[in-house]
Amino acid sequence: MPELPEVEVVRRGLRGGLLGREGCGPAAGAGPRVLKVVVRQPQLRWPIDPALKIIEGQHLREIDRRGKYLLMKFDPGTLIIHLGMSGTLLFHLQAPALLTHDHVDLVFEHGVLRYNDPRRFGAMVWHPASDGPLEQHRLLVGLGVEPLESGFAGPLGGQLLFEHSRGRKVAIKQFLLGGQAVVGVGNIYCSEALFRAQIRPTTCAGRIALPRYQRLAEEIRLTLSQAIEAGGSSLRDFHAADGAPGYFQMDALVYGRAGQECRRCGATVRLLRQGQRSTFWCKGCQR
Ligand SMILES: [Zn+2]
Repeated sequence: MPELPEVEVVRRGLRGGLLGREGCGPAAGAGPRVLKVVVRQPQLRWPIDPALKIIEGQHLREIDRRGKYLLMKFDPGTLIIHLGMSGTLLFHLQAPALLTHDHVDLVFEHGVLRYNDPRRFGAMVWHPASDGPLEQHRLLVGLGVEPLESGFAGPLGGQLLFEHSRGRKVAIKQFLLGGQAVVGVGNIYCSEALFRAQIRPTTCAGRIALPRYQRLAEEIRLTLSQAIEAGGSSLRDFHAADGAPGYFQMDALVYGRAGQECRRCGATVRLLRQGQRSTFWCKGCQR
């Protein structure tokens, strides 16, 4: 399943290839125009709204991200895209032959943005600007803060985790995966960040003191940043938006290493199940 770093890699790739903008500089020019919306299969996680047709003739102004949602911004509204379990969004200068599961094309002046999703758990949801602020959309309104933005930077990150966890009797791993405090700490990154912060994944979130949360927030930021830099992915057939394979390339410290020696202390890395997800951890390092 694509997690936050993979979605951010897709966003950056599309921003370069589709919008022609590198880095995070300001928008230059009007943005490319959509000529046609082609929906071959409207039944994704939710049916695609035929009102999406309104973007035909409109300029794509920007591609942002909130949690694991890509936000394609047009003057009449925003197309909210989630890749689900198996979605890929690739921009082609010349449209290749259609494959099974190529459900949607956005045909631009200079190429085609194609959405493929074998399992169809992904989503394309149109939010008209007339419906009010995007942040209030039902898919976005309950999301925690962005881990790599100012609201989680420096001491704010640890403070936020500390405050959100008071009174919570849930394990720290479940607390992070829940995403209400901070978004984007998925299964892989959660195991890694907890190891790096030396916190046992089963520790009750409400009992962790502020200094340990400060350390954890820092390790979350580092883990996610490094995964983005590595163009990492947890999905085998994941591709970055420019078509380059984006396998999870971060050198995991514990994730997927059950039975092997801990890289830090030499003890055996352990595996446990929490809420039907695998957790990897080291008894020697994490308390
Ligand atoms: Zn260890």
